[in-house]
Amino acid sequence: MIVVMKPGATDEQVQHVIDLVRDYGLKDHPIYGSDRTVVACIGDKRAVDKGAIETAPGVERIVPILAPYKMASTEVKRERSQIAIGPAGFPIGGRKVGIIAGPCAVESREQLLRAADAVKAAGAVGLRGGAYKPRTSPYSFQGLGVEGLQLLAEARERTGLTVVTEVIGLEQIDAVAEYADVLQIGARNMQHYPLLEAVGETGKPVLLKRGMSATLEEFLLAAEYIINAGNKQVILCERGIRTFETHVRNTLPLASIPELNDKTHLPVVIDPSHGTGHAYMVPAMCKAAIAAGADGLLVECHPDPEHALSDGAQSLTPAALRDLTGVLRHIADAVGREL
Ligand code: PEP
Ligand code: MN
Repeated sequence: MIVVMKPGATDEQVQHVIDLVRDYGLKDHPIYGSDRTVVACIGDKRAVDKGAIETAPGVERIVPILAPYKMASTEVKRERSQIAIGPAGFPIGGRKVGIIAGPCAVESREQLLRAADAVKAAGAVGLRGGAYKPRTSPYSFQGLGVEGLQLLAEARERTGLTVVTEVIGLEQIDAVAEYADVLQIGARNMQHYPLLEAVGETGKPVLLKRGMSATLEEFLLAAEYIINAGNKQVILCERGIRTFETHVRNTLPLASIPELNDKTHLPVVIDPSHGTGHAYMVPAMCKAAIAAGADGLLVECHPDPEHALSDGAQSLTPAALRDLTGVLRHIADAVGREL
């Protein structure tokens, strides 16, 4: 349930409500909006005397939260969440559209620094690149591990870009959190609940990818795990789902953007690289995603896609990325956003 405070309710009145809620054994999540404060209360409400809370000073009313994902829901918070990422605190979820680009995997110092320079020159805010790769085959390149993380940190030092990289298991969380600005949870791990809770405990922004066969409700419940562990800085990433279609690697449902924007206040980023599997399709999907209201893009870009150790076929060249961001600027402008 949500305790809606009256506009102008005092800090003491809000604190009193929080104390009452805690007395009933519920978890309190106060949300301070621009015109009023609400206190979302999560837990078993059977023993709660709603009347006692409703008549407390400064309380306007109590409303139930109908969505199963409580804290992620727009029922609790209508204002869009802005999540500050990286050294410059770039706000994902505001007026600006954030482009995060880079190779699928960190392969070498030369490859990563060339990619980082290209990504920076194209006007992106973030550098992506996996140091730990969740590969379908155990014989495929698995990533450089800690060495890859150190290279990402060096690239950040050189360019000022925000580092986004995947954490594939509980055992790497400390290392990844030490070097990365944003922790990526991959599609294959969207329902790895202990991992979601653990990244929730790091307090670092999390880029959560949609599972390849997850419904949007399951996706939002995965985000809820992270928020419930104490971390509200969740960025959702639609990366396409498995369907019967074979002309694309995954089917990228851009309708997720308006649906998620309706159901949640969390920012939504689109990954057209994994969402299509083909570099030539990526620009069209990027344009459509921004036009449809995406808050950002996660795009694979490799200095030499033909020799990439993973996902070369869906990776843009540096020149293609630069051309693309030039066009995206106009699209963003046309829909009241900025690149
Ligand atoms: C990735 O971003 O490189 C990746 C592995 O993506 P996904 O988890 O969406 O397959
Ligand atoms: Mn990839």
